[in-house]
Amino acid sequence: MPAPVQLDRKLISDPALAPIADKVEHGERLTQADGVTLFESGDLLGIGHMADAVNRARNGLRVTFAANHHINPTNICTLRKTCVFCSYARLPKEEGAYRYTMEQVYAEAATANSTMTREFHIVGGLDMKAGLAYYTEMFRGLKERYPQVHIKALTAVEIAHVARISKLSVRDTLIALREAGLDTMPGGGAEVFSPGVRATIADKKLSGEEYIRVHREAHQLGIRTNCTMLYGHVETYADRMNHLAMLRDLQDETGGYLAYIPLAYHPDNNELGETLHRTGMATTGFDDLKNLAVARLFLDNFDHIKSHWIMVTSFISQTSLAFGVNDLEGTVVREKIYHEAGAHTPQGMTLEQILRLIRGARRIPVERDSFYQVLRTFDEPVAA
Ligand code: SF4
Repeated sequence: MPAPVQLDRKLISDPALAPIADKVEHGERLTQADGVTLFESGDLLGIGHMADAVNRARNGLRVTFAANHHINPTNICTLRKTCVFCSYARLPKEEGAYRYTMEQVYAEAATANSTMTREFHIVGGLDMKAGLAYYTEMFRGLKERYPQVHIKALTAVEIAHVARISKLSVRDTLIALREAGLDTMPGGGAEVFSPGVRATIADKKLSGEEYIRVHREAHQLGIRTNCTMLYGHVETYADRMNHLAMLRDLQDETGGYLAYIPLAYHPDNNELGETLHRTGMATTGFDDLKNLAVARLFLDNFDHIKSHWIMVTSFISQTSLAFGVNDLEGTVVREKIYHEAGAHTPQGMTLEQILRLIRGARRIPVERDSFYQVLRTFDEPVAA
């Protein structure tokens, strides 16, 4: 159950939010209907105040980040034609298709800022030639070369794909990957769980229930995971809340989620963006901030809400630190997936840049490891 928090009710101007503010103050769990009310409200600052109060009660003024390095080893994907929001995937013979050899993976890993990088974040397409042997060899090779670096790899969708083409159960696949060096799993591939939305944007993808099943299996094996939602396309507010409720339920059951990360849909270079006539028009700052704040209020059993600055810009990510966010995507090196979809953000951020953002929001920068253990606290507490 959430902890009670004190609110300054003068900062909440929308009367429709009063019953929700009562619940927040009394530490009562919000319903999906409450979440819809929050999304429908124009009182962004009131919602932000509530989310900030909840976050401060849980995390104080600390804002964490981890120095990570993204490796996208293959963009070849069997779902290339059916995930209409995706700008990254290619068919095997299509221009721009690639699959890294092991040497290329290790060369890419070597370009990381080796003194700071503590995590490889590895995701890619559903490539028929990238099965269990491909990934176990990759993880073993990386661990041999960088034994101190954490491997966060393969979304639930990729795990199910590797299991299927390797003719193994999801459980046995996870066990084999863990033995090879997999430490945790990222949360991608969730999109929006609603079957109606999935039928429109990702018809052939693992269903929402199956995504949850893979995560449950991972949690039961002691493999912690993140989770996400891709918002800002055809979903309704009710779809968003149903999605968050499924994540909250699994967290109640297993406690295996480390963080929730809302992902903003980018409409460039993909079929969905053209269909919706949204090319060049990404999500709005208002909706980006609201997705983070509503998540902070509704996901009362999650310790960490993360803003992915690559997708929403570093300015929105910094502002989100006053809207319930306590964790920023780290110093990412060479990110491909969202840049294919039109993200105009840089492909990496230096330590100095991330410290500047956090300090500028009057928060305390804390470098963490992949399990949110504190590695370095950069400043003494500052006044609120
Ligand atoms: S979103 Fe993932 S599964 Fe879908 S086409 Fe793109 S890479 Fe493939």
